[in-house]
Amino acid sequence: MRAMILEKPGVPLQLVEKPDPTPGPGQVKVKISACGVCRTDLHVVDGDLPEPKLPIIPGHEIVGNVSALGEGVDHFKLGERIGIPWLGSTCGDCSFCKSGDENLCDKPGFTGYQIDGGYADVTVADADFCFPISGECPDAEIAPLLCAGLIGYRSLSMAGDSSGRIGIYGFGAAAHIVSQIACYQNRDVYAFTRPGDLAAQQFAVEMGAVWAGDSNCAPPQELDAAIIFAPVGSLVPSALRAVRKGGTVVCGGIHMSDIPAFPYQILWGERVLRSVANLTRQDAINFLELAPKVPIQTRVETFPLEDANLALEALRTGKLTGAAVLIP
Ligand SMILES: [Zn+2]
Ligand SMILES: [Zn+2]
Repeated sequence: MRAMILEKPGVPLQLVEKPDPTPGPGQVKVKISACGVCRTDLHVVDGDLPEPKLPIIPGHEIVGNVSALGEGVDHFKLGERIGIPWLGSTCGDCSFCKSGDENLCDKPGFTGYQIDGGYADVTVADADFCFPISGECPDAEIAPLLCAGLIGYRSLSMAGDSSGRIGIYGFGAAAHIVSQIACYQNRDVYAFTRPGDLAAQQFAVEMGAVWAGDSNCAPPQELDAAIIFAPVGSLVPSALRAVRKGGTVVCGGIHMSDIPAFPYQILWGERVLRSVANLTRQDAINFLELAPKVPIQTRVETFPLEDANLALEALRTGKLTGAAVLIP
């Protein structure tokens, strides 16, 4: 197999060739056809997240076809198209797993972080955490659904059903998917981008936003809720100032720069500030059922596998419109 490997944080990924992995009991082997590039990959590569398995193959928005079945796997067929997301394993035993909050498991395994992921042409994964992908949508366009889409969907759910006017801070892969769901649900999207990023603002309007502007500006209307996808802590007080009493601000990223001190007044009035962490398998089932009904159409920019470092750099510098996807 070929893979782009991270030896240690802070250095570029290296292309390596090595023997294919063998699927163990309960695992499937997958021939990868596309893997999305998520901001979390950037945090792993840059060393923002603690204790990755090293060396690690990043990537957790994997689409491919089953090429071998491990012992005991009977719910997938050889050749079937499946998706492999960020949540790669859970303990099944902690209080969170037992109460249905497996996204908060005390001993989780995350794909592309503790478990080798999809910046490769082959991988193995726990079959119980993979999902069948039906329909005719091309593999590359499905890939961003498996994290950006899922986390966006969970973030939107956390924003509350009564949030008709919803702000989105950071208009990348997750935001362009969430906007389509929000429009489908008859909500108005207000998109905030890096100041002066007119291309991103234009993209947001194309994706259905009723207003798009700089993140340091106030929206023309008071918002019912806001979701922050950009990893920028100073957006938290901005978003709190933009939402009405009782409104919710959801932080959708796994990592964010420090949040500056802010006056209690902007949280007062029963505003809620919360994060969204990971996903449950039920989120994936619900979201993948909803996606074709919207129907969600992703905007992707594909890169050959060996150009993974270029794709990461494009994401880091905000040069992408939509989502980057690696093709082995
Ligand atoms: Zn657990
Ligand atoms: Zn992700």
